[in-house]
Order: sequence, then structure tokens, then C-alpha cells
Amino acid sequence: MTGMKGMSYPNLLSPLKLGPIHLPNRVVMGSMHTGMEDWPWQLSDLATFYAERAAGGVGLIITGGFSPTLRGTLYPLASNVTFPWSLWGHRKVTEGVHANGGKILLQLLHAGRYSVHPFSQAPSALRARINRFTPTAMSDTQINHTIRAYGTAAKRAQQAGYDGVEIMGSEGYLLNQFLARCTNQRTDHYGGSFENRARLSLAVVRAVRAACGDDFAIVYRQSMLDLVEGGLSAAEVDQLALWLEAAGVDALNTGIGWHESKVPTIVTSVPRAAFSDCSARIKQLVDIPVIASNRINVPEVAETILAAEQADLVSMARPLLADSAWVQKAASGQSQQINVCIACNQACLDHVFIGKKAGCLVNPRAGREREISLAAVASPKTLHVVGAGPAGLSAAVEAARRGHRVMLYERSAKIGGQFNLAAAIPGKEEFKATLVYYQQQLRATGVQVQLNTAYTVGLADKADHVILASGVQPRQLAMQSNAKVQVIPYDQLLSGQRQAGRRVAVIGAGGIGFDVSSYLIGSDSSQVNATWRAQWGVETAADGGLVAAAPAQSNCEAIYLLQRKTTKHGKGLGLTSGWVHRSHLQHAGVEMLGGVDYLGVDEQGLQIKQAGLKKTLAVDTVVICAGQTSVDGLARELEAVGQGFTVIGGAKLAAELDAKRAIREGMEAVLALG
Ligand code: FAD
Ligand code: NAP
Ligand code: SF4
Repeated sequence: MTGMKGMSYPNLLSPLKLGPIHLPNRVVMGSMHTGMEDWPWQLSDLATFYAERAAGGVGLIITGGFSPTLRGTLYPLASNVTFPWSLWGHRKVTEGVHANGGKILLQLLHAGRYSVHPFSQAPSALRARINRFTPTAMSDTQINHTIRAYGTAAKRAQQAGYDGVEIMGSEGYLLNQFLARCTNQRTDHYGGSFENRARLSLAVVRAVRAACGDDFAIVYRQSMLDLVEGGLSAAEVDQLALWLEAAGVDALNTGIGWHESKVPTIVTSVPRAAFSDCSARIKQLVDIPVIASNRINVPEVAETILAAEQADLVSMARPLLADSAWVQKAASGQSQQINVCIACNQACLDHVFIGKKAGCLVNPRAGREREISLAAVASPKTLHVVGAGPAGLSAAVEAARRGHRVMLYERSAKIGGQFNLAAAIPGKEEFKATLVYYQQQLRATGVQVQLNTAYTVGLADKADHVILASGVQPRQLAMQSNAKVQVIPYDQLLSGQRQAGRRVAVIGAGGIGFDVSSYLIGSDSSQVNATWRAQWGVETAADGGLVAAAPAQSNCEAIYLLQRKTTKHGKGLGLTSGWVHRSHLQHAGVEMLGGVDYLGVDEQGLQIKQAGLKKTLAVDTVVICAGQTSVDGLARELEAVGQGFTVIGGAKLAAELDAKRAIREGMEAVLALG
């Protein structure tokens, strides 16, 4: 796709020359490990995955990281370019992208002390707090070998048809480790002065240029804000950008925060475009294109950054997992139809971190493009879908897209089910976008929606098949309100039906208990970049980008978050986001009590027993977040009348339910119909 002109996004859709390559627009699909890089037999999946994104209009794609040396791999035998045959089979990937009008760069990533294996290397033998392995300090010979390996790896990428490479110099990986004082304690010509610490990065750029010539793009991903103590100062970041430009890079991409940083940089609660000012500062300094990144997910945000000349391109990875046709939709005036990435990490990063293939909560087809076709069915059916929560919405839209006649019944006045409650949580406002998307898709695909209609078995005789997605209801506990203390189920609190007082006990510390605590704290920090930065101690002018964090203000005098188990609170939360929720609650003074027995509510508050001792929590409100039970009564009734049906989402199983499973099961129920 070339030369797309969209009236609404003139900057986003304008062409650009990046080194030797011509790009039709300003959208870069940023590097993201998908779990399809490591083995040759996965490359056909990777090729289809990227080809579909190129067909969707993405100008430039950057692959997940490939190590130039074996010791630099992220984990044993992870993606690398070490052997002459390493990129054998990659022609499928590059040809797939080129055939669809895109350009693609291979990312070269040496993990340094982030390598999760015993042979890791780094500037100094200092273990990262997120890794159990301590690296060995690299010798001069090993450094020279690594520089040469970058050149060789880039040459192999060129031979495999890549249009260039991105050199990963941020996120706390090897090159970043050499740059920062906190990880580089060397006393040779690679340590000490900034000139010395930058020597390796510049040598790598020169080696790649020497190996591949001028007709090959080199992007350097530069850490614009390390967000660790002992990280680079703003002056050092600026200086490095100038040196990199002089060394011959064609563009600078933005990296924000090391993996070991205690500041969140990409989760939902990070404000959109939170770090575009960092790219803007560099753009003032250099003449090569600068790419902005982090929490850019909709065309309006991207266009604003470009229009304000904060950057020349925008990088998005997860948003293009969520919707491969993101650019096409923006270009054709259909941005409302974009399936927006809600930055939950639940199916992408949380999967990749445990060695699973990346998927997407809002797009269960992501990463499964070869397996799941979009073809229409040969014999359309009349389908009744019961419940317009995530599971029912997914099933209804997927079925209608394939040509089935679909009626969607929802007993309440709006679509969304429990997901509406998720979107009411401060820092999760982004979740509303999924419901806007489904609203648009219901219209676009012609689903007939019956709101305020509780489905009964009597309606089923008009259907060939029923998909039961009636979801869940909060588990009730035998606790009654009294004159002084009110007991509220979480749904009544979050829907605004009832208000909490100033001293609150939250029973149940699962995802919902955590979210309810955030709701009670009430700080809507995600809307205000300055407030959010103060709360996390982000200050771009400070060394490493960090100052002391200001404690979060809470709307409540006291919040107790309680659980019966004795394990750490929030243990079951998302791998890459749970720590953010925990930190936020701790900053706001939420008291987390485990090993609790609930004895009952009286006029003094909530009576509990902990470690054998009885205690009174003097609260005026108790919010129950003790899990859910399935709403599945209709299943037995449908069975009794012999109606064919499929049960999905919370109606099928309330335990371990999340929107990822609900949406995936919606799609799979439709695929199973043939
Ligand atoms: P539901 O969402 O319960 O939807 C069922 C729908 O069916 C409802 O709209 C109901 O009114 C309707 N219905 C029931 N019976 C009938 C009938 N007879 N006729 C017609 N309609 C009927 N998940 C995540 O993945 N990530 C998160 O970060 C996250 N955060 C959350 C935060 C909160 C505060 C809450 C409450 C939930 C959160 N969830 C999250 C969970 C997620 O919302 C649920 O897993 C998901 O909504 C379940 O989808 P479902 O369609 O199975 O059921
Ligand atoms: P949950 O994670 O199963 O937590 C339920 C909590 O209630 C547990 O802490 C449990 O802890 C307690 N509990 C269970 N039965 C109880 C009883 N009879 N009496 C007292 N306490 C009881 O479920 P949830 O918090 O309701 O969340 C539902 C789903 O939504 C989750 O599975 C999650 O995936 C999803 N969600 C996800 C996120 C996210 O950020 N990813 C956020 C919100 C919700 P004890 O047994 O130790 O007391
Ligand atoms: Fe975005 Fe969540 Fe999908 Fe990842 S799983 S791409 S964060 S919506």
C-alpha cells in the first residue's frame, strides 16, 4: 500500500525517506518478541503474521530481537544470528512483507546481563535484580568479537532480504549496560568517561555500516530515559544521539525504561504518549528521523505527536497485534473500527515471558493467522447469542462476519457485561475502547441486538443454535449491613449504585479486589501526565530520569485489602502488570492483610481473626470481592427442550475467568460451528 492520503491524519499518512528506504507512512511496527522467532518451523507463521500487518498498511516492521552471539541470547537457544544458516528460512518473512508493500528490519539484540542462562556477559559482573544469573565481565577480546559479530549478523540479515537492522541499545540490554554507570564499572577504555562508555555502541554501528554498505537502513533504539538509579543523564542521552548520527545511523528509535525499572512504561495506567517529550528533545538535536514510542495506540494520539513535531514516525507493537488493519482503517476514515490495544499485556507480554506464543486479548486471531481463516461459511445458520459481555460480543461479531444470521440478547440496558465495571477503574479507562469497537462491529456486521431482553428458553425455537454467554455474578457471603456498616457487592459499588464510606474493608484480593481498592483510592492519575510522573518519581532532567516518588493521595482514610490465604497479595495478577497494581496500592497506604478469617460484621466494623488473634477493623463499609459464580441456569433448560447450544465464558466456568478467555471462547464457539 503506497501513498495513502487520509484527510484526518495528514502527518501520519505522509511518506518519508528513512536512510535508503522509502516509507509510505509514519507507522512503524516496533520490535516485539512474538514467540515465533526461535525455531525454523515457526517461520511460516511469522511470515503470515507480518505479511498481514504489511497488507494492513504498516510502513515499516521491526522483528523481535535476534542475538549476534550465542552468549547474548535471551535464554538458551533463543533467536540468534550466530551461524551462517541462522537466517535460513527468513526469506519467507521478508518476501511476505515485501509482496505486501512493506519494509522490514531485523532487530539485533544482545541481552548482556539480562540473558537468562549461566553464560551471560556484561560490562561488569553485576547481577540484575530480575535475573538469577550473574554475568561475567567481558574481556577486550570478547568485546572485539561481539563488535565483529554484529557486523556479520547484519550482513546475514541483508542476505536474507531484510531492508536493514535495528540495533537494540535500550531497555537495559548490553549496549545500554555499557552506557550506564550503574552497570559499567570498568576501568579500561570502555568504562569511566561517557566517551568510553559509548565506545561499544558506536563501534557496533560502524561495524554494521561497514559490513552492509549505505544501501541498508540502520535504526538505533536509544534509551531516552533509563528510569533506573545510575542511568544516563539527559545531557548524556543528547550527546549519544549526536554521536550515533555522526556514526551513520539512519534513524533513532525511542526506548523508555529498563526491564528492571520500578516505573511502569507500557501498562494501561501509563498515560497515552507519556514519553513523547523525550523523543521531542532528541528531534530538536538531530537531522535524522526520530521515532516516538510507548503508549501510542490510536491514530489521534499518533497524529498529535507528529503534528507537534515531537517525532517523525511513531512506533507501535501491541496495537498492531490487536488490529493488523490499523493503518488501513485510519487511512480510510474508519478509525472507529480499529480494535484498540488496551495495554493489558495479558495475551502478549504475559505469554511471551513464560515462553508461550504472543496472542492478543482483544484479537484472539493474532499469532494464529495461518490457522484461522476469515472465510464466510457455506451454510449460514440462525444463531441466538445470550449475553453481551465479552464472550457474547465476540461470538456474535465473529459469527456475523462469517455470514450467520445473529440475534444478540442482553438483559441489561447496555453491552459489555462485567467489562463495563473494569472500565470504571482509574487507570483502566482504556478498556472502554473495546466496547466502542464491539458496538461499531455489531452495527457493521448486521447483528440484531435486543437490549433489556432477558433470554428465555421460549425464544430458542427460532434458532438453529444458541450460544450461551450469560456470564457471572458476584459470589455472595453471609454478611449483612447494619445501621453503622454497609456491606456492598463489588458490582453495586463500581456501577455507581452504591457509595463506599471513608473506611473500607475489601474482602478478596484477586484482580477485582485490587481494582476495587484502586477505585476507592480514586486517583485518576492516568489522565494527567504530570500527576502520574510525580506519583512514580519520573523527572526527565534527573540522572536516570528518577526523583523521589510522591505518595498517591487516597479518597479514603483507610483501606484494608483482605484475603484468607497467606501468600503474597496479588500473586495471581498479570506477570508484567501485577507489580504495578501492588506498588500503586502500597503508595496509597492500602493495608494488605493475609491469613484472615472473617468472623462477621457488627456495629464496630468487620470482625476478623488473624494469626489466632481476634481483631476489629473499624470500617464503615465492607466490599465483597470474593470471586464469582456462573449464570448458567439456561443451559439446563435448553438441554431439556433438546436445543443445540454451546456455553462459553463465565457461564461455562467462573473460576480463572478473564476477558481473554471469554473473547477467545466466543471466537472458538463460532469456528466449531463450521
Ligand atoms: P459477563 O461479562 O458477566 O457478561 C454476561 C452478560 O450476559 C451480562 O451482560 C449479563 O447481563 C448477560 N445476561 C445474563 N443472563 C442473561 C439472559 N438470560 N439474557 C440476556 N442476557 C443475559 N478481565 C480481564 O481479562 N482483564 C482485566 O483487567 C479485568 N478487569 C476486571 C475488573 C473488574 C472490576 C471486573 C468486575 C472484571 C474484570 N475482568 C477483567 C473480568 C472480565 O470483565 C470478565 O472475565 C468478562 O466480563 C467475562 O465475560 P462474559 O461474557 O463471560 O460474562
Ligand atoms: P479471584 O482472582 O478468583 O479472586 C477472588 C478472591 O476472593 C480471592 O482473593 C479469594 O481469596 C477470595 N475468596 C474466594 N472465595 C471466597 C469466600 N468464600 N469467602 C471469602 N473470600 C473468598 O477472582 P476475582 O478477583 O473475582 O476476579 C475475577 C477474574 O477477573 C479473575 O480471574 C481475573 O482474571 C479477572 N480480573 C483480572 C484483572 C487483571 O488485572 N488482569 C483484574 C480484575 C479481574 P482467599 O480465598 O485467599 O480469601
Ligand atoms: Fe494490547 Fe492486551 Fe492485546 Fe497485548 S493482549 S496487544 S496489551 S490488547
